[in-house]
Amino acid sequence: MDIPFVSFERQNDLISEEIIASINRVLKSNWFILGNEVKKIETDYAEFNSVKKAIGVANGLDALIIALKTLGIGKGDEVIVPSNTYIATWLAISACNATIIPVEPNDKTYNIDVLKIESAITSKTKAIMPVHLYGLACEMDSIMNIAKKYKLYVIEDNAQAHGATFKKIMTGTFGDINATSFYPGKNLGAFGDAGAITTNSARLAKKATVIRNYGSGKKYYNEVIGINSRLDELQAAILQVKLKYLNKYTEERRRIATIYNDGLNNVREIQIPFCNKNATHVYHLYVIKTNQRNALQQYLRNKGIQTLIHYPVPPHLQKAYKYLGYKRKDFPIAENLSNTLLSLPIWPYMHNDEVYYIIDQIKNFYTISK
Ligand SMILES: *Cc1c(COP(=O)(O)O)cnc(C)c1O
Repeated sequence: MDIPFVSFERQNDLISEEIIASINRVLKSNWFILGNEVKKIETDYAEFNSVKKAIGVANGLDALIIALKTLGIGKGDEVIVPSNTYIATWLAISACNATIIPVEPNDKTYNIDVLKIESAITSKTKAIMPVHLYGLACEMDSIMNIAKKYKLYVIEDNAQAHGATFKKIMTGTFGDINATSFYPGKNLGAFGDAGAITTNSARLAKKATVIRNYGSGKKYYNEVIGINSRLDELQAAILQVKLKYLNKYTEERRRIATIYNDGLNNVREIQIPFCNKNATHVYHLYVIKTNQRNALQQYLRNKGIQTLIHYPVPPHLQKAYKYLGYKRKDFPIAENLSNTLLSLPIWPYMHNDEVYYIIDQIKNFYTISK
């Protein structure tokens, strides 16, 4: 059996007529950027999250950058960020010329270790950027309490966790201003690049809206140094359709995760995903931890199962960040995760027998390797 890491075919076949209708609507409107379709997805996405404002932007990285710029974070400001994350979170801080302060993740949740945040705070700290990695909500009550105590901003990176909650509140709505991505492979994905900012502050929303469009609130009058990060009408129209099915897709991901959990729970060599109390998981990725990661990946590849590693090199060891001067062992937990985590296929409408096949092959691997 050949099982790709991700497939959109079954998912999109079910909604193809609605998608085509939405594309035709844009075609007929002859309006392509920042129009009614963008306005509609902004309203819909804000409503879905129970947040006051959502602002459509060109991609997730831009959403993070605009969020930081909106808060006025720049040179000399320190921003706390997990050492285990997709590099975009770090790149956003770099793009604002602010200083990256990495904090190690918890070894079980893989999210930022809330017990390690306070010791990283200095007089220059301006913000904490939690990342709800792999789809699991961070411990937002602790993070918000720390932020309040030290008067820090919080910017959530919600690119992997659309629909996840902490104490029943949606991720991406706790922070002062938050960012998400609608990259095709995300839980809510467009047919190209797209992203959004969410905030409960009308003032910050207004500022972010200006920054995304050349720093211009009124055409040809520029208030601040902005960027071009506009969302186009086609992506906005497609996202309206996809958003209607997001809860269904999450349900599907949870169904598959439950099958994996039940099947792999008693394989001693594997740690299955953990979900802390009060948090929910939307399984953007189904990530297992094992000391024989590379051998298992190779074995599964030979059985037709495509897996991926998120992420093989932690940001502090990337060539791009060589100038920061970090070395191996500086963030041992993140480094260990980069050597032991493996992401299994998980996507809406995977068939049970496909998931069972993967579980069986994993079990075979550990029987043989004993
Ligand atoms: C995908 C992702 C981003 C960036 O989103 P793009 O739309 O690809 O720019 C940022 N942070 C995390 C955690 C992501 O997974």
